[in-house]
Amino acid sequence: MAGRVTRFAPSPTGPLHLGHAFSALTVWQRAAGGTALLRIEDIDRSRCRPEWEAQIFNDLHWLGLAWPEPVLRQSDRGGAYRAALDRLTAMELTYPCRCSRADIRAALAAPQEGVPVGPDGIVYPGTCRGRPMAEAGPDDAIRLDMARAEEHAGGLRFHETGPEAEGWHAPQNLARSVGDVMLARRGFGTSYHLAVVVDDAAQGVTEVVRGADLFEATAIHVLLQRLLGLPVPDFHHHRLIRDAAGKRLAKRDDSKALGKYRAEGLSPAEVRALVGF
Ligand code: GLU
Repeated sequence: MAGRVTRFAPSPTGPLHLGHAFSALTVWQRAAGGTALLRIEDIDRSRCRPEWEAQIFNDLHWLGLAWPEPVLRQSDRGGAYRAALDRLTAMELTYPCRCSRADIRAALAAPQEGVPVGPDGIVYPGTCRGRPMAEAGPDDAIRLDMARAEEHAGGLRFHETGPEAEGWHAPQNLARSVGDVMLARRGFGTSYHLAVVVDDAAQGVTEVVRGADLFEATAIHVLLQRLLGLPVPDFHHHRLIRDAAGKRLAKRDDSKALGKYRAEGLSPAEVRALVGF
């Protein structure tokens, strides 16, 4: 038995803060005796910076964490995402979408009926569904026809090992609760969901460890794994670190940046203790 393979997958869009430290330490703890990988999720080139990536390496080393090289960068993986998208297209599950956010709002039913919201925000009303892929232009996003995809995938099932929802889950009716998710954002060639599923399989990840904020997205990931014939790993969604007022730490809350604690002279052990490790 080679042991569990986990991964920590930050986006280099700002400094790592206490919430990231808790997440990373959980990833390495879950991999005890196995392998914890680091993956740089930098598909959004406009928001990612090499300085932030260097700072991530630095902060994690400072915390005492190590990982196998080379580190996988999503910006190098366009070909793998394209191949996965082509496969879903060959299954006739995709369509090009030219709707802007404003178009989507305008297409929704009367606002007093309430707007359905899923893990990716407002559930797409399906305006472009049925457009042929042959019409896809450079300004189009690519969406998954969720109802067809669910039919194709059959029953979904995944095992959660995290404390808040431990056990087996069988997500259903994604067409209503999630809608036609984006597989490729306009100008990106992929979306977070497609990239993460393709990479977790390519890296042999056996347990996806991440914050509870991504629990709802897991159904999408399991569906894509089923459609693409990829193994479904276990999932471990950990609690989110909150500030003194009970508010979740925002991704860009620089007041809790690890670099700030370092500059104030805290040791790695003291920072670990701050998040309960
Ligand atoms: N890149 C994501 C983030 O920074 C994490 C994705 C994942 O763990 O699935 O929150």
